[in-house]
Amino acid sequence: MAGVTVAVTRAIPEAGLDRLNDAPEIGDVRLWADDLPPDPEELVALLAGCAGALTLLTDQIDAEILDRVPGLRVVSNYAVGYDNIDVEAATERGVAVCNTPGILTETTADLAFALLMASARRIPEGVDYVRAGRWQTWGPRLLLGQDIHGATLGIVGLGRIGQAVAARARGFGMRILATARHEDPVADELGVEYRDLDDLLREADFVSLHVDLSPETTGMIGADELALMKPTATLINTARGPVVDTGALVEALREGTIAGAALDVTDPEPLSADHPLLALPNALVVPHIASATVATRDRMATVAADNLLAVLRGRRPEHIVNPEILA
Ligand code: NAP
Repeated sequence: MAGVTVAVTRAIPEAGLDRLNDAPEIGDVRLWADDLPPDPEELVALLAGCAGALTLLTDQIDAEILDRVPGLRVVSNYAVGYDNIDVEAATERGVAVCNTPGILTETTADLAFALLMASARRIPEGVDYVRAGRWQTWGPRLLLGQDIHGATLGIVGLGRIGQAVAARARGFGMRILATARHEDPVADELGVEYRDLDDLLREADFVSLHVDLSPETTGMIGADELALMKPTATLINTARGPVVDTGALVEALREGTIAGAALDVTDPEPLSADHPLLALPNALVVPHIASATVATRDRMATVAADNLLAVLRGRRPEHIVNPEILA
């Protein structure tokens, strides 16, 4: 196996690149150094002859790509979500798919809570107001927001990140509801009450999405669901953009069906500067930065590199999405 080539589809933190460069089995680390991701043809050219690929969620790895790079043995995604990879196609071709679960849980929950607080307390508007030189005096009606303590948070998908958000909400004295496919005893410990989605949407002041993207969750929050929410409620999405029907969300924000949205992820992604969402004062959008801290991105890089190396060494990686291929 001496001298295999691996590809890394963007400049990840040095910690991960060092792991690959230092591995004796690896002859060449091919790095896509552009700021923008490779297009499909560029991706095939990058992966040609590679035994391993360290990929990002912006790389679509489908059956066609896999067929065109037959030497590939592992696709190690630098993310917990792997909806950019056709796992079934990879499994059929004996290609291992790895991800980085757990590592980003707390960091992502931090951002979900930051978005909740920023929208509740109108922080971006306040910053703009001061910067624009409009701050003349203390105002009794200036930038009135909503209380977080005592409010009801609805968590859609009580997995790792959903639970970490619940832990934060508990500390803030919120009432916490969650919808899930399987009830988990941890809900009791976190003081979470289960609801079905419709009841959660009706009762919550803040709805925070934490499901993985799948055929079942694509478009899960559309016009009908938004109509169930309170006109004072805010939708927070740090999961994946397509979980929400963007057209329906724009309409709901415009019409006042809901009060606001705070989004780390959107559909499409990225949003063009003239996208209708960005013209709405009640939409707060940040550019998919939920896991973007120095420590977490370093850890993601080393874990993604270690997952890749483990497969090339014939060992079981710490995180593998399709373990059946190891059998
Ligand atoms: P996780 O532990 O797998 O949690 C996902 C949860 O969603 C699971 O409990 C799952 O339930 C539940 N779920 C799935 N479909 C559902 C449905 N139809 N109704 C109710 N619950 C449903 O994953 P995680 O680590 O918390 O991450 C969640 C997602 O966050 C990732 O898949 C990723 O897309 C996203 N994410 C985004 C960022 C970012 O940068 N914005 C960072 C990290 C993660 P089951 O147990 O029944 O499957």
